[in-house]
Amino acid sequence: MSDRRAGIAAGTGGDVVRLTEHVTLVASGADGFDLSDPLDCHVYLVRGGRHSALIDAGAGRTTLGLAEPPGHLLLTHGHADHAGGAAALAERWPGLRVLAGAEAVPWIAAGDERGISLDRGKAAGAYPDDYAFAPCPTVAAIGDGEEIDLGGGVVLRAVATPGHADGHMCYHLRTPGYRALFSGDCLFTGGRISLQNLHDCRVPAYAASLATLATLDVDALFPGHHEVSLARAGRHLAAARDTVARGLMPRSTT
Ligand SMILES: [Zn+2]
Repeated sequence: MSDRRAGIAAGTGGDVVRLTEHVTLVASGADGFDLSDPLDCHVYLVRGGRHSALIDAGAGRTTLGLAEPPGHLLLTHGHADHAGGAAALAERWPGLRVLAGAEAVPWIAAGDERGISLDRGKAAGAYPDDYAFAPCPTVAAIGDGEEIDLGGGVVLRAVATPGHADGHMCYHLRTPGYRALFSGDCLFTGGRISLQNLHDCRVPAYAASLATLATLDVDALFPGHHEVSLARAGRHLAAARDTVARGLMPRSTT
């Protein structure tokens, strides 16, 4: 089956799925739409009037078929399925500005397998033993509330959302016509989350992050895996918040 999928994908020279006027899905793995390498998270391209930004990089085993170099790579967190491709993208486009939450920066810069819990991922069989996370020394920190203006009224704002992993950032998108949230591994459709037995997965911080997200105005939800939601996405944020308000944690996808 994988050969058949590769045959379909290989002929198109960069598979993309247009989601909105500004947002395109440019890679997606086995926990998504099988557009690219199975290890990849969803990789989104956001186009503004002057610049574009990638949200996450995938695992690094896929060559993204982009027509133009993006100006920014905004990483949601350091896990290899999201940040493993950062080094290759920075090498391919030397002007690329690679940004991540401050706590994750040293792990991504050094390729610290324990910091990003790749050691645990390999032990669990989620990654092959020969998978290597390429260090990306050009990564820099983006702070909570920091904005990236892509032009034409298209603006991305970082929202610190620790819990799934230290340094986890979501990115809130404002456009002239709608708003959206790139939620990484913090929040999925239906209000699901991703709790894992990892050194920096923290339940109290996670609950606080879900409360923060529920205050945002969003039309669309673009998580790091699984389904996307193109309308009325506030219901997914509210579902997670309401579960936490009852003293519970939402259902985990992992
Ligand atoms: Zn993750």
